Order: sequence, then C-alpha cells, then structure tokens
Amino acid sequence: MSLTLQNHTGLATRRHHLLPHVNEAKTRAFLTTALPNVRYLSGFTGSNGAVLITPERAILFTDPRYQTQASLESDCEVKIAKGPLLGEVSKWLKRLKVTALGFERNRISYEEFQQLKELARGVRLKPLLGLVEMLRVVKSVDEIATIRASVQLNSAALEQALKNFTPEMTEVDLAAEIDYRMRMLGADGTAFDTIVASGPRTALPHAHPMELPIAANELLLIDMGASVGGYASDMTRTHAVGKVDAKLRRMYRAVLESQLAAIDAVRPGVTAAAVDRAARNVLQGYGMEKQFIHSTGHGLGLEIHERPRLGRKEKTRLLTGMTITIEPGVYEEGVGGVRIEDTVVVTDKGCEILTPSGKEFVVL
Ligand code: ZN
Ligand code: ZN
Repeated sequence: MSLTLQNHTGLATRRHHLLPHVNEAKTRAFLTTALPNVRYLSGFTGSNGAVLITPERAILFTDPRYQTQASLESDCEVKIAKGPLLGEVSKWLKRLKVTALGFERNRISYEEFQQLKELARGVRLKPLLGLVEMLRVVKSVDEIATIRASVQLNSAALEQALKNFTPEMTEVDLAAEIDYRMRMLGADGTAFDTIVASGPRTALPHAHPMELPIAANELLLIDMGASVGGYASDMTRTHAVGKVDAKLRRMYRAVLESQLAAIDAVRPGVTAAAVDRAARNVLQGYGMEKQFIHSTGHGLGLEIHERPRLGRKEKTRLLTGMTITIEPGVYEEGVGGVRIEDTVVVTDKGCEILTPSGKEFVVL
C-alpha cells in the first residue's frame, strides 16, 4: 500500500473512454465492484471498493478503513459506507435520479445482484460484459513501463534464487526462495502461486510445489510472476538438473522452436488464433501436437489472465500495446514436461520480448 499522492493523469481519460460504451447499452450509469476495474478507473488499490460512473460524476465507495488512502489514491469523489457498499451505492443512485444502471454480469455475485435489486428498487439493472476489460486490453505507455519493471524484477528474482540452488532443496524450498527474492527486490508480492515442479511432476502444467526433493537427472519447471505497482509478470523456464535423457532434450528443442515461431507470428492485425497455430504447427512437425494441452498464451496486466486468450479459436486481432504471454508446452505423463514462457508487448512492427532471461537449455 502506498500512501503517497498518486499521479491521477489518465484516470479521467479512462472513464471518459468508458462512457460511450455504457451509453450503447442504453444506460448512463455504470457500476463496477471488481477490484482490478475499480483500480483501473479510480486508482484505488484497497480490498473493498466500488465505482459508480455517470456522465457528470465519478464516485468511489469504500469503507472507513480506507478513508485516507482512498482520497490520496483516487481523483474520484470518495464516499465512505458504514455498512455494505451496495447500500451506500443505492442511496446515491436515488440521489442522482439514476433510472438505469449497467453492472458487470460476470463480476457480481448472485447475492450482490439480489441485494442491488432489493436496495435499488425502480432502477433498471442492465447486465454488461467486459466493458472495462476491453479498455484494459491495450496498455498505455505508463502501463507498459510498469509491466516491464515487473517482468525485469521477476527475471532478477529467478536468477538470484537459482544462485542459491542446492541439490538438497525441495520444490517448496525453491518456491519459497523465489518468493523471498521477489519481495526483497521490491515486488508487491507474487502475481500467482509460484509453480516449482521436478521430474515426472513437470508433466502437470499447474503443479503445486511439494515437500519433495528436486530430483537429479530430471527436468525442473518453474512458472513464476511478480506483482509490481499492481501489474503482473509471468515467466516459465524449464531447466535440467544434471544430465537428462535424449527424449527430454528433444522435447525442449521442440518447445523452444515452437515458442520462437509463435513470437515471430506476433504483430498487429494477426488473430490470436494465428499465433496459437504457429506454435502448434512446429509441435506437429515433432509429432507432439497432442501433448500441447493448453492455449499458447494470454493477456496480462492488472490481472494475471486478461484478454486476449491466444487459443485455437480466438479471433481477436492483436493490437499495438497489448501485453501477452507466449507459452507453449509439451507434457508426457510419467515422463515429464517442458514449458517456456515469455511476456511480450505487441509493437507496430511485431513484438518486443520483455523477458530478459535466456532460453538456452540450462543444466543446474
Ligand atoms: Zn502464463
Ligand atoms: Zn506462467
């Protein structure tokens, strides 16, 4: 939590860009209770907040714990609710004579919806989907700078953690070392639970670290991300601990080639599916396409998974300023798995790989 006065430039512009999309839904008022959207529209970083936007007003609702922080971080009018936020929101809907309210159908719980219906009688509730997320997809210069800092810190944390790697370590030990390094380097925290998997467990794409020794002559897969200034980074590296057999080395070669082909396909105007296809085509050449069981990547920003998803059927066209991950992987049950993941930003000419960590097959 930072209690310094924030730079508010851009917040009003974001809200201004949102309003025409709200109007398209035949309503003038919009409510978000989703914290990443609250942060994006108001600057507020607390754990309980709602933002109400009309053409005339931008109101941030929070509870007494955040009274000081809210007015420092946000350029919105701040209203402190003594009880549930939606109660206070409803009062203001009446006061502002709001007759129709757009709300986020995928972000509000059934209970909150019932509450809102009860409290804001007479207000027509319009379910909307992904309006703020759509704005968040293309990052500003400032956002890209923050994501770059997050990515660089993440790579520095891995480098430091691997310097302290010893053969006696367990997966949990190494994950803890990584998290500690992130914190010491100035991260807000991790962007998601650090994945460390060794040996055949590398075949589980989202393995949780266990109290198991990191095995010699096996693969070691690390998937980690920091949160810096609220923005996520995301990187996977697969290393060898000692000598691994030819089958695993071939797997690594295939995934690296696939990852480079996908990065090569990234440029404004191409569909997310085309990037995914570039990764799959290479793996097909190795007869490994069936072992690639997830999508090629995802957008990231205030959240670790944002639009677009780089999947087989994703028709979204890439735009300059999108930040996405490229992370093909190949997994064989009982044997092991390889995934290589970088964060890249789409540029006018193609993309820039933000992740500075090398991708040669490292033997620890
Ligand atoms: Zn990822
Ligand atoms: Zn990842």
